[in-house]
Amino acid sequence: MNPGSGTENELSRVNQALRTLSAGNRTLLRAAQERDLLHGMCRVIVNEGGYRLAYVAYAQHDEQKSLPIMAYAIQRDIPEERDFFDHLQLTWADVELGQHAPAIAVRSGEPCIGRSLLTDPGLAPWREVAIRLEYSSLSAFPLHIEDDTMGVLLIADSDPDAFDEAEVKLLGELADDLAYGINNLRSRIKRHEAEERIAHMALYDPLTELPNRTLFRSRLQSAIADGRQKHRPLAVLLLGAMHFHEISDTLGYQQADLLTCSFAHQLESRLREGQFAACVGEAEFALLYPDMDVSLAVRTAHELVREFSSPVEVGGLSISVGLCAGIAAFPGHGADADALIRRARMAMFEAKRRGSDSAVFTPELEQQRTNRLALMIDLRRAIEQKALMLYCQPKIDLATKRIRGAEGLVRWQHPSQGMIPTEEFVRIAETSGLITPLTYHVLEAAFQQIYAWHDSGLDQPLSVNLSARDLRDPALIDKLKNLFSTWGTAPEWIQFELTESALMEDPVGALDAIHRIKALGVELFIDDFGIGYSSLSYLHKLPVDAIKIDQSFVIAMPDSAVSAAIVESTIELGHRLDLEVVAEGVETESAWNQLVALGCDTGQGYYMAKPMPADQLRDWQMQYDAGIVTYRIH
Ligand code: C2E
Ligand code: MG
Ligand code: MG
Repeated sequence: MNPGSGTENELSRVNQALRTLSAGNRTLLRAAQERDLLHGMCRVIVNEGGYRLAYVAYAQHDEQKSLPIMAYAIQRDIPEERDFFDHLQLTWADVELGQHAPAIAVRSGEPCIGRSLLTDPGLAPWREVAIRLEYSSLSAFPLHIEDDTMGVLLIADSDPDAFDEAEVKLLGELADDLAYGINNLRSRIKRHEAEERIAHMALYDPLTELPNRTLFRSRLQSAIADGRQKHRPLAVLLLGAMHFHEISDTLGYQQADLLTCSFAHQLESRLREGQFAACVGEAEFALLYPDMDVSLAVRTAHELVREFSSPVEVGGLSISVGLCAGIAAFPGHGADADALIRRARMAMFEAKRRGSDSAVFTPELEQQRTNRLALMIDLRRAIEQKALMLYCQPKIDLATKRIRGAEGLVRWQHPSQGMIPTEEFVRIAETSGLITPLTYHVLEAAFQQIYAWHDSGLDQPLSVNLSARDLRDPALIDKLKNLFSTWGTAPEWIQFELTESALMEDPVGALDAIHRIKALGVELFIDDFGIGYSSLSYLHKLPVDAIKIDQSFVIAMPDSAVSAAIVESTIELGHRLDLEVVAEGVETESAWNQLVALGCDTGQGYYMAKPMPADQLRDWQMQYDAGIVTYRIH
């Protein structure tokens, strides 16, 4: 600044400071980067304000409490001067070299005004060079961000009398504006980063970091558009792990997550240019292969499934996960991203069902699915309208030929499709949240039937089948207690059958549920015994009264020595464990005779009686007891 005289000089200084302030505000508004803001401000102070030097230094909280210069501007471009500021190293620590104005401003949080380079002892280390470069006085203004002094704005001039009160006030405001601008930019960056993170989260799977379903869909859409234009096919492959729930139950979620991530990385590493992988569900991946036809897709699926099925190390265990793939291709299976994904998934379920590596979509699959869906809707209605019927099939004592009880079996006469196979609609109920209402309906019908039988002097138990999911129903026990008290049912009049495979879905949980059911005083049967892979020690822990040998062994017994051996050893095993043994699927006289010879306790099957409407059992039994039934038990 050029020295002038008296009031005139002061006025011109204030005017200049005012111009600086307003130019500073413009810089503040325009800068998009912190670096640009700092340089811009320093330039404004020097160019508009006419000062010799302005710099901004940030106070670091490192060991040396360093105060690096982040940006500076000088009036004259003298190499020595530039070199000096390029290499100037400062500290704000309260040490001998930290007694200069910027350090004091940082430490105190207050401006340090009009310090003379010629006399100030704190500036002694730089005096010589300051004199050479014709600097005389300087002021330092702290930069505050949220109660913290994060740095300092230093302004130096050649006029020893620079920095009067009015001017300092304006420059102080400028420093405050600068701090505000820095803070503003930083929050804007933080906000931007947060927005980017949210945008990333919307398109990527947080666990595997692979693109998610949304991004896959949009990539597939563009690939379809491209394929359509170039008349090239493309394949969508959906890869899923079988029994992943059981794996995560056994390994724990953390290990299962590790396994999923390792799949994801392996998949990614196999991708070639233009190919795309996404994580679209729990251990479920979608792959996009532009320019690939069905036969190559089947080969690729086969390779992938083989590669991924080899054992992987997880948490010190060597795990091998079965995978299967579903394939859908453009244009043959659809020209719309959603349809292709849906159809690839349908094909994957078909592969799972068939137990094969992969399956290619066919229109029949879609038809089946639509039928299933329609059936589900009808089933819900049938349950609501109590249209399901209770059938029952007698269980006969093989030694005395007398009825020992009956098994309740649910039936559904569909209004247009006729009798729906029980296993089919029970499976639909199990996978669509309808099993609880179905079970409750069967239970109500069973308790009512039991009451009717006992009222008419028929004295035998009825067994009800329970699903795996019923064992997880926290309200089941209350429901049962309620029915017992409503109908005045004795515990020995009702029994429950649980399939061995249902128990093995969650052995620990099932054990707990079974104990609670058993506490009601009822008899329990393990159904379909022999195909569920329960261990002897597990069986020993179950509070059950009987096992029902799976009908596949009994039906095959007359023609298969292996099945006969299984039946024989199961009877022996049951008896050793003090359990009653029931053989289901007794279709022939020879099976009956074999079972009698093996000492099996009870038989159930078409040979004696097919399942019949529950209210017909009484008549059937009366005929049976009177020896009128023309079947061949002699
Ligand atoms: P399950 O409990 O093992 O019932 C025996 C099945 O074998 C019944 O099939 C019965 O009709 C059939 N069966 C009986 N004797 C013979 C025979 O000599 N030969 C042949 N081939 N089959 C015979 P259904 O009624 O179709 O039931 C199938 C399965 O559906 C049942 O197997 C049971 O697991 C389930 N289920 C039936 N009713 C219910 C129910 O009310 N609730 C639940 N959750 N499941 C049920
Ligand atoms: Mg059963
Ligand atoms: Mg069975």
